[in-house]
Amino acid sequence: MSNKIMVTQAVLPDVEEYVGEIQEIWETHWLTNMGKKHNELSEKLRDYLGAEHIELMVNGHMALEMALQAMGLKGEVITTPFTFASTTHAIVRNNLTPVFCDIRPDDFTMDPAKIEALITDQTSAIMPVHVYGNLCDVEEIQRIADKYGLKVIYDAAHAFGIRHGGEGVASYGDVSCFSFHATKVFNTIEGGAVCFHNERLGRKIYRLKNFGIRNEEIVDGIGANAKMNEFCAAMGLCNLRHIEDKIAARKEVVLRYRERLANVPGLQLNVEQADVASNYAYFPIVIHERSFGSTRNEVAKALAKENIFARKYFYPLTSSFESYNGKYDETKTPIALHVSKRVLTLPLYAGLTEKEVDRVCDVILGCRR
Ligand SMILES: *Cc1c(COP(=O)(O)O)cnc(C)c1O
Repeated sequence: MSNKIMVTQAVLPDVEEYVGEIQEIWETHWLTNMGKKHNELSEKLRDYLGAEHIELMVNGHMALEMALQAMGLKGEVITTPFTFASTTHAIVRNNLTPVFCDIRPDDFTMDPAKIEALITDQTSAIMPVHVYGNLCDVEEIQRIADKYGLKVIYDAAHAFGIRHGGEGVASYGDVSCFSFHATKVFNTIEGGAVCFHNERLGRKIYRLKNFGIRNEEIVDGIGANAKMNEFCAAMGLCNLRHIEDKIAARKEVVLRYRERLANVPGLQLNVEQADVASNYAYFPIVIHERSFGSTRNEVAKALAKENIFARKYFYPLTSSFESYNGKYDETKTPIALHVSKRVLTLPLYAGLTEKEVDRVCDVILGCRR
């Protein structure tokens, strides 16, 4: 049987580069608590992402949780169910109520035309997701937020390195949260960051990630431990040096997928957004079984039989998780529901060869009826 193709493969620098980067740690014995590597990475990422201010975190989920906590939000948050568990859980774990807005059928981001109908006197914020690295309609979302006095928190976990009109996207909304998990375009093993404009909010987040400690004698926040350690920051410093090469290599993979899968009846490929330079984070296809001839599940099974592991990303919708006990109605977001039943995210990482991409495409195209 031919070799296994997983949906992704974590990026690693050369081992010598990493060893060189962590060497100093043996001299200083400073392993965590906002050390030199942490601070160096923080500055480099602020520039790279185009953020005004940045706070590094232990992971992307805690970035979302701490940002929501620091903002002191109450009531309802309008969000998308077409996302990873983290987005919705972060809202609920802050004792806030998620209100699910439908998505656009072409780029799968929150549909701004459907936001206003969901706003009540309890609404305090909008939390959209730049899903698959597709940029949300940031201008329209901000216009609505300003009109109703709402905060905007972007889950930018998929948006590392994307450029809009040549600029980084970390400055949109009040806050943008990134993930540097092993499986993401850029990783610090585990890690994340909150990008923001308001310095007071930043000080709150800084304290919250360190137990709410203000100074040796004053603890005035109910914080957690969400600090990024030096070994993770060192991994980030190494990976950041090679990020452009990695994104370029991902682009090659995506171009090959497009070459092979474009204009196939029943296969909907991810959009290419005008004025957005993609990070090629994911390659989702939506399989419309009537014109394609096979269902998403049949294609996934056919791939698995050939040792190729695509992911049903994002299925199910977060609004239908068992953890929420039927509290939310997935039929209220019919487009998200429709897409989640048909979407398949194909293997994509910098080291995937053209031969391997062709192997994936051959199996998919072999499912046509
Ligand atoms: C990965 C991810 C997160 C969480 O990030 P972690 O670093 O894994 O905690 C949040 N939202 C989305 C959309 C993600 O893909």
